[in-house]
Amino acid sequence: MGNTREVDKNTIVVTGGAGFIGSCFVRHIIKETRLSVINIDKLTYAGNLQSLASVEFNPRHMLVHGDISDSSVIEQVLDEYSPIAIVNLAAETHVDRSIDGAAPFIQSNIVGTFVMLEQSLRYWASLGASAKRDFRFVHVSTDEVFGTLGETGRFTEASSYAPNSPYSASKASSDHLVRAWHHTYGLPALISNCSNNFGPFQFPEKLIPLVIINALSGKALPVYGDGRNVRDWLYVEDHVRALVQILRNGAPGKTYVIGGDNEKTTLDVINAICDILDTTTSLEKNGSYRNLIRFVTDRPGHDYRYSVDSSLIQKELGWQPAESFESGLKQTIEWYIDNRQWWQNIFDNTYKLDRLGLFKYSERS
Ligand code: NAD
Repeated sequence: MGNTREVDKNTIVVTGGAGFIGSCFVRHIIKETRLSVINIDKLTYAGNLQSLASVEFNPRHMLVHGDISDSSVIEQVLDEYSPIAIVNLAAETHVDRSIDGAAPFIQSNIVGTFVMLEQSLRYWASLGASAKRDFRFVHVSTDEVFGTLGETGRFTEASSYAPNSPYSASKASSDHLVRAWHHTYGLPALISNCSNNFGPFQFPEKLIPLVIINALSGKALPVYGDGRNVRDWLYVEDHVRALVQILRNGAPGKTYVIGGDNEKTTLDVINAICDILDTTTSLEKNGSYRNLIRFVTDRPGHDYRYSVDSSLIQKELGWQPAESFESGLKQTIEWYIDNRQWWQNIFDNTYKLDRLGLFKYSERS
């Protein structure tokens, strides 16, 4: 890339860097660049220091245990470390949990992003001309903000916002704030809207790790509704590479939609996991892992289909996914087989594979 900004040898702030995508982003930055990372994470149930074990003692990584909606923490970090960019990944992320109780989603995703923007603007305004020109605020969001598609059509940067779940509504709100802080105040901010990620270190409440772990444990593989809902899937490291391209070469004020060109029904995904496990594990089982599939009550308000047209980021920033769905899934399954302790610790401490998001008002938190 001829016009790549000189961002190495400097410090960036990453929020949510103990989560699934955030920890992959941090590990990538430490391995592939000379940047230093200040990682602000609240360490909610989804934050996991074990996902950062490989960078724990690296002098270019520092964890700040803090909340993005706490203005004083963000102010202190920005003033002390003078970052050249901020990548905002911190969020509450599970749709089912947002159905059971939206308050943390409003607080972290909306109020948290507002605080990040306010503090970034104050800090950015204090910079000299060249640092001001080079500064970037990259806000990481989801394709779910565009709502649901029917049988045809794809999301692009021009798609209208139509969020349907409390989670996607909170992310849509945060996107609107970022857009406004760019438009009104000139903050050099960019937004990415990515499809469903999968890969190592994903919290086991999400579909792919849940199915892998249940299968490995001989438990039922739950399919919401009729299993025909469609999602586009992207291997997490490909998402991280896209974010790095946006950070280096993206144009402030722009949105980039990111997808893997892997539209799959829920049932396709579960069958693919079962088929790989059938050929790769020597665990005791009765016939195929597919025999463990069970249809369960659908998620309320379940969006039918998402599909992403990533041609803009491919054309403008030269990004391409490196992994196919099959190659990414194989690596993911191998990782969960080889890293039982990582997920066993989660079950021992915080999460028991309970069904979430069925919305019983009397039980709503
Ligand atoms: P995750 O749930 O695995 O991790 C979220 C991280 O944010 C955790 O480490 C958590 O401790 C931290 N966090 C939450 N609230 C915080 C707060 N108030 N202050 C500081 N830290 C806080 O999430 P993920 O799947 O890695 O997603 C990261 C980002 O990417 C989110 O913004 C999400 O909306 C977006 N995204 C995710 C996907 C996906 O498929 N996972 C797809 C597109 C976009």
